[in-house]
Amino acid sequence: MMTTQNQMMATTSRPRDIIQDFAKSFFHAHKSDLEKFYPGISLETLLREFDYLCSLNGQLGEDYHARMESFFKSLLLGIPLAYLSQKRFFYNVDLFVSPDVLIPRQETELLVEMALEKIALKVKQQESLTIADIGTGSGAILLATLKEASLRYPKLAIASFASDISSRALEITKKNFFHNQYTLSPQIVTSFLLGDRLRPFQDKKIFCDLILSNPPYIMNPDDLSGVHSQVKLFEPELALFLKSDEYWEWYRQLIKDAFALLNPTGTFLMEGHEKHLHTLQQISLEIGFAYASIQNDLTGRERFLILQKSN
Ligand code: GLN
Repeated sequence: MMTTQNQMMATTSRPRDIIQDFAKSFFHAHKSDLEKFYPGISLETLLREFDYLCSLNGQLGEDYHARMESFFKSLLLGIPLAYLSQKRFFYNVDLFVSPDVLIPRQETELLVEMALEKIALKVKQQESLTIADIGTGSGAILLATLKEASLRYPKLAIASFASDISSRALEITKKNFFHNQYTLSPQIVTSFLLGDRLRPFQDKKIFCDLILSNPPYIMNPDDLSGVHSQVKLFEPELALFLKSDEYWEWYRQLIKDAFALLNPTGTFLMEGHEKHLHTLQQISLEIGFAYASIQNDLTGRERFLILQKSN
């Protein structure tokens, strides 16, 4: 009996030791290359990410050695860690991510804060809300907002809509909502809409109190020099870039449709490019928004546009 137990312990702990040793020598051999792609990366982080990747599919399988080699090889290509471990924590929620969706960024958490501030004002006037997230990707913005709103206003009825032009991205959105469904109040209903910008809302005549969006905002090619090579190589083009000759028309349409689909006291909160927000502010006022202001992110960069249909 004792022998069997000892044998079992020896066999189950071995792969972990092998991984530890492999990771350690890999880390030391490639430290400077790794630093280029993953500033501040530690051996512990690598081991944690690899461990998480394996635990997604249960215990370490027979193929752990192949997985280990491919994981560490991928690091040398600079594939973002979130795509390797397939997860990212954002604001208050663990998200599944794949190369079909943008990796949620820290600065976007401020958009969630802003959304919650607007919701706090709106619940004083309204018993129910309609909230949309345009170009939802992983669903980060909407899910984080709804999760926090569920805690603050458990009785508030919210009709929420997550839309994306990419059906593959929308599969990830649905997966994240499915996995987090019990963290949302039962008063919240979410629908998933496939389509460009606010097109599906026009077709279905869905009017909103709050529209949220982190649309593609890097002008191609004008802004490309400021974009990290890892972003260019591995993140979805559709979520990031707009051609310079289509840029302003693309946004004019988005802002015009948002204006038309907002209820009279509605708000549009959008993340945007620091170089272009002033022009978008001007366009929004031309379209008819009563109030258009720019909000900085925590690094002091102009990052968000706040639009109110009425004062
Ligand atoms: N913040 C992203 C970046 O610069 C861009 C996000 C976007 O285009 N919506 O990498």
